[in-house]
Order: sequence, then C-alpha cells, then structure tokens
Amino acid sequence: AAERRPLVAGNWKMNGLKASLNEISLISQGLDGLWRTTDILICPPATLVYTAAAVAIGTKVAIGAQDCHAEPSGAFTGDIAAEMLAEAGATAVIVGHSERRTYHKESDAEVRAKALAAWRAGLTAIVCIGETKDERVAGKTLEVLGVQLAGSLPDGSTAANLVVAYEPVWAIGTGLTPTVADVAEAHGFIRDRLVARFGAEGEGVRVLYGGSVKPSNAAELMAVANVDGALVGGASLKATDFLGIAGAY
Ligand code: PEP
Repeated sequence: AAERRPLVAGNWKMNGLKASLNEISLISQGLDGLWRTTDILICPPATLVYTAAAVAIGTKVAIGAQDCHAEPSGAFTGDIAAEMLAEAGATAVIVGHSERRTYHKESDAEVRAKALAAWRAGLTAIVCIGETKDERVAGKTLEVLGVQLAGSLPDGSTAANLVVAYEPVWAIGTGLTPTVADVAEAHGFIRDRLVARFGAEGEGVRVLYGGSVKPSNAAELMAVANVDGALVGGASLKATDFLGIAGAY
C-alpha cells in the first residue's frame, strides 16, 4: 500500500471572530513533533483566511478555506473565487460539504466544477461525500458513495490535488459515529474506486473520516485501514480538543 501522510483538518464552519485566531497559535505551539508525521490544516471562515494565514506563517499549520465559486470572477454577489482564497493564503478548500449540498442544493456536478476551480487556483480540493441516515438504513451507502465519487471528482485527480472526506451526514455534529467495521467498509470502497479510476494516484489520495470525531474516539477511528486522517468540525474550535485528535495518530 502507498505511504499516505495523515492529514488532520479542522472545519470551523460559520464560527470564529478575530479572537479565535489564538486557537491557531495554540495549535501550532502544541504540535510538538507531531508535524513530522502529520499534516495539520485549519479551515476558518473566509473572513479570517488572510489573518489566519499570517498567524500561521512559520508554523506547521496550513490554512484552508470552506467552499468556493466555480468561476474565477464575475457577477456572483456574495460568492468567493478560489483564486481569492489562494491569494489570501489558503492552500486547500473544502467543497461538497453536506451542509452545502443540503442548504445550498449543490449537485455532484457543481462540486466537481468547484474542485476544478480549486485546482485552477493551485489549491488542494477536499471533496466531501457521505450518505444520509435514510440511505444507510436502506442499505444504499456504498451505492450513494459511488455516485458521489463518480460525479464529484474531476478527471485528473492526484494524490497531491485531491483529498476525499467521507462524512456520513447523520454523524455530522450529532455525536454519533459509524462502527469501525462500517468505516472500514466505506473507506475500503472509496479506495477501490479511487484506484480503479486514477490508478497509482488513487492509491495516494488521502481519505479522511469526518463526523463527530473527538479526542476520545479519534484513535479508534484513525486506526482503521484506509483512514488517512480526520475532518473535524466542532472539536476543531478548541486547540486542546483538536490537538487531542491530531495526537491520536
Ligand atoms: C464536519 O462538518 O466536517 C464535521 C465533521 O463536523 P463534526 O466534527 O462537528 O461532526
């Protein structure tokens, strides 16, 4: 199997004012030697990307963004281009998060266009996929993941330009997590699809687990085959929690 460097990424969602930047300082100070083995990424809201990147300069914390528009510029009031995020200091952008798919009705095709926009701007695309509770109960999890992967990932995905985040919708912000066996099945399936479509590059793409990861369950989840790190929501807002998760590797 390919050597994949673990990535622990924090998604602050619509949380964070200037005072929150201190958490990034605390994370960088608390990393110890962890950065030698693990990539660390924090994705604050767009308003903080520029200042967060300034705070993170010279540290082992990278700064990413949440969502982008597919176009590089234009009459899209309120939207933000990937190029703008890159200029502000982001190195990655989360696209296709279930909250975007649900509240903004984003389709797989739109997510794919946003991933292409990320690449155009030189950003790594963190593409999120995941089944709803109804889909899981109906036994459709792998089918849903297969459709989302086929539709959301652009041709040309590589180990460097793509990260996939498996986030069961019912596990996000709920305190619920799938069993280790269910995580293993989903991640194994995603890996197979990545390799089938992208060959050796698909072997190198990191597949993160996301959904109610916290310090107390991180070690168990991160030990699962084909889990190459975590995408962390709520527990990324406090440096102590985030470090507790990152240290689970
Ligand atoms: C997320 O929204 O990406 C996420 C995983 O959230 P939480 O960790 O809060 O469940």
